[in-house]
Amino acid sequence: MSLRLRLTILYSTLTGGILLVFGMLIFIMVNVLLVNQVDTILLETARDAIQRIRVNVSGELVLIELPRMDMTANVYMQVMDVGGNIEFASAPLRNLDRPIDPVVAGLRQQTFSDTYIETVHLRVLSVPLFAGGRRIGLLQAAYNTGIADDTRATLMRIIVVASLASMAVAAAASWLTIARALSPLAAVTETAQQISSADDLSWRIPLRGPENDEVGRLVQAFNATLERLEHIFTSQQRFLADVSHELRTPLTVIKGNVDLMRKMGCADDESLSGIEDEADRLTRLVGNLLLETQAESGKLPLHFAPLELDTLLLEVFKEMRVLARERVRLRVTEIDQVQVNGDRDRLEQVLINLVSNAIKYTPQGGEVFISLAKVGGNARIIVRDTGMGISKEDLPHIFERFYRAEKSRSRLMPGGFGLGLSIAYWIVTHHGGRIEVDSAEGQGTSFAIYLPLLQPEGTIPVG
Ligand code: ADP
Repeated sequence: MSLRLRLTILYSTLTGGILLVFGMLIFIMVNVLLVNQVDTILLETARDAIQRIRVNVSGELVLIELPRMDMTANVYMQVMDVGGNIEFASAPLRNLDRPIDPVVAGLRQQTFSDTYIETVHLRVLSVPLFAGGRRIGLLQAAYNTGIADDTRATLMRIIVVASLASMAVAAAASWLTIARALSPLAAVTETAQQISSADDLSWRIPLRGPENDEVGRLVQAFNATLERLEHIFTSQQRFLADVSHELRTPLTVIKGNVDLMRKMGCADDESLSGIEDEADRLTRLVGNLLLETQAESGKLPLHFAPLELDTLLLEVFKEMRVLARERVRLRVTEIDQVQVNGDRDRLEQVLINLVSNAIKYTPQGGEVFISLAKVGGNARIIVRDTGMGISKEDLPHIFERFYRAEKSRSRLMPGGFGLGLSIAYWIVTHHGGRIEVDSAEGQGTSFAIYLPLLQPEGTIPVG
C-alpha cells in the first residue's frame, strides 16, 4: 500500500472518528437533558395532583378537584385505588383498564420507567399513595416521548451522516494535498534512480517548495550528500591519475637506462646512477603516499613528548646547509629557547620540507631565513626565502595533495610530488597548531608555523 493511500486512510478515519466521538458525546448530553426535562415535568404534575387527593373516613380515595392538565405538555395521568379500580384517568387513557405501566405498579417507592402502549413510547412516573401508613392507591403520570424520540433519531442521523461526509471530504483533501506534498519525494527517487542508472553524480534535485520544511531539508541534505560523494569520487580519480603520473616518470627513466645499457652491452655508471636516483625517487614517493593515506584515514600515529624546538631547528639547519651548498645562503636570524609537546620525527619532517622547498624554489644567490620565537602562547617558526614566489592563483591550493604550482611543474623541479605541504599541514594541525603562507611572485615566500608552547606542569594556559 502506498504512503499516499496509507496517510489518506489515516487522516480520513481520524477526522471521521473524532467527529463521531464528539457527536456521540453531544447525543448522550442531549438525551440526558431531555430525560431530565421530562422527569421534572412528570414530578411537578404528580405533586400537583397529589395535593388534591384526600381520604374519606372509610379510608377510600377522594379526588377533591382534578388538576388542571396542560394538554400541550403531553402528560397523561391515572389514579387507582388499592383495589385496582381506576379513580381518575386523562382522556387518552380512558379505555385503559390496567395501570399505565403494570410492571412497576406494585413497587412501594416512587419510580420512573419506560413503557409502550401500542406503539406509543411513554415515560412513566409511578407514585404509591399512603394514608396513615397504609397503602391506599397508585398515581401514574405518563409523558408521550414521541417528539423527543424523533429529535434523538434525527440527531443520530445528522451525526452519522456528518461523520461520513467529513470522512469523505478529508479523504479527498488529503489525497490531493499529500500528492502535492510528496511530489518532491518522487523527484528525489527519480534523481536517485537516474544517478544510479547513468553513474553520474553531477545531478542535483531542484528545490521547488520552501527551503526549510521537512522535504526542503531532505532535498538539501540529499544534494549535499551528492556534492560530497562527487567530491570524494573526483578527488579519488585525481589521486589515481596523479599517482600513475608520478610513477610513470621514474619508471620511464629506469626503462630508458636499462634499454641503453642493453644496447651498449655494459652497465655504465651514468645509467646506473640514473636508475638509482629514480629508484630513490620512487621510494620517497611511496613513503609519502603511505604517510598521506595514513594521515587522510586518521591512522598516522603521533608520539607526543616534550621537545626542545630550538635544538631540532638547529639540527635541521645543519642538515639543510649541505643541501643549500653555495647556491643559496641559509641563515638563522633569531632563535628562542622553546619547548613544545610534539612528535619529534614528524615535526622534523615538516621543517625539512619547508626549508628544502625554500632552497629548491630559490634561484642561485638567493637567501633563506629561519627564525624561532615565542609569540603569545605559541612557538612561531618562520621559513622565508627570496625565491620565485607563488602566484595568487596557486597560493590557495598549495596545501592540497599533489598540487604543484604551474611554474614548478614546467621547470621540472627535481623531486617534487606536491605531497610535502599537505602532509606538513596535517601534522601541524594535529599538533594543535596552524601553518600560514605569504608569498609574492618573483620576490619570495614566507611560511609561518604556530605551535602551542608546552605548559610547565601545574600551570593553566591563559588566553
Ligand atoms: P613539492 O614536492 O612539489 O615541493 P609541496 O607540497 O612541498 O610539493 O609544495 C607544493 C607546491 O607549492 C610546490 O610544487 C611549489 O609549486 C609550491 N611551493 C612550495 N614551497 C615553495 C616556495 N618556498 N617557493 C615557491 N613555491 C613553493
